[in-house]
Amino acid sequence: MKVGIVGCGQLARMLALAGWPMGLSFNFLAEAKEDDACVQGLGKVVRRSGESAEALYREMGCPEVITVEKEQVDASLLRELQAFCSVYPDPEVIAVCQHRGREKAFLNSAGIATAPYRLAGSGAEVERAVQALGLPVFIKSCEQGYDGQNQWRIDDASELDMFLAKHEALPECVVEGQVQFAREVSIIVVRGADGKIAVYPPTENYHRNGVLLTSLAPVRDLSEAMLAQADDIVAKLLNGWGSLRHSCPDYVGVLAIECFVTDQGLLVNELAPRVHNSGHWTQQGAATSQFENHLRAICGLPLGATDSSRYSGMINLLGRFAPMSVVVQANTQLHLYNKSLKPRRKLGHINLQNDSDEALRQQMRGMLEGIYGDAQ
Ligand code: AMP
Repeated sequence: MKVGIVGCGQLARMLALAGWPMGLSFNFLAEAKEDDACVQGLGKVVRRSGESAEALYREMGCPEVITVEKEQVDASLLRELQAFCSVYPDPEVIAVCQHRGREKAFLNSAGIATAPYRLAGSGAEVERAVQALGLPVFIKSCEQGYDGQNQWRIDDASELDMFLAKHEALPECVVEGQVQFAREVSIIVVRGADGKIAVYPPTENYHRNGVLLTSLAPVRDLSEAMLAQADDIVAKLLNGWGSLRHSCPDYVGVLAIECFVTDQGLLVNELAPRVHNSGHWTQQGAATSQFENHLRAICGLPLGATDSSRYSGMINLLGRFAPMSVVVQANTQLHLYNKSLKPRRKLGHINLQNDSDEALRQQMRGMLEGIYGDAQ
């Protein structure tokens, strides 16, 4: 089968690397100036320059299915491509997830709790939102915001004044009240074209400057009530799209659900309609990786098992490569993305597995020290 992937970053790379042994072949659709280093040698890269959807589809070698490695894509192009082949996840879902305001409205209408928020498109609206929510707030642009980009934390009135003075022309934003969370967890779930759902053990995530640094799975000590709530969120999300405002067929593929763990239960922070950084540990830590399962789902194949028998961890290489002696150990696997060095850039990650949660955490602390000079 031929698979088209919109985007050519590390997620596209790891999808292709998972699909090659299954006999799948890949083409990548890139924007005119998009860096394609991650997918070099893995398939043809087709660049957009004003062609029709049909011409692009032909240039991509007429794939049987098209998917995405990021949500910031042209949803109307995806809708047009549906005339030629299956596009998963559905473009309507992607259109919701690429806009924080639409996403939060969707979540709340599905009965899923989020941080309190207001929409704002001007300084006056930000001030009204702050009055309603109280400080501190997180101001996040509705579009083009990821890994802490286009996002501001405002702690007090003077910071608010400075922010408003600096951002006279404000993009459409959500203003969120601060959530007092104990931890951040994500749920990686996959739904096959036949409607079957498989859920990976929940993952605990730690961020640095708004960017994921480490993940551990399965998450430690999540109460039975929260695990039940996670199941409820998954069911509402995966089976609920069709009945909601954005009418569309049911979800197909991997969906990542990022949550805050609070005293009141789980609050959903963000959805990603694609494979996700917090699921990279599944490459060696789960019976079937998120990448293979996404491909199985979109190709109409049965899903693979998602269970894990050991404790797994993942450390991102952000803005630096690490000495091989630090990252290549008996129970670790290094994944590099073929990128050049740039500050803060995600250059690769290390997966590791251990028989105990404590031993895994200790090993991760040692590796973090070896890579970053501190244990986070
Ligand atoms: P996001 O881009 O929404 O994933 O946010 C990046 C990180 O900022 C999150 O993983 C949290 O650590 C933090 N954060 C975002 N929104 C909030 C919030 N409303 N309250 C507290 N922390 C937040």
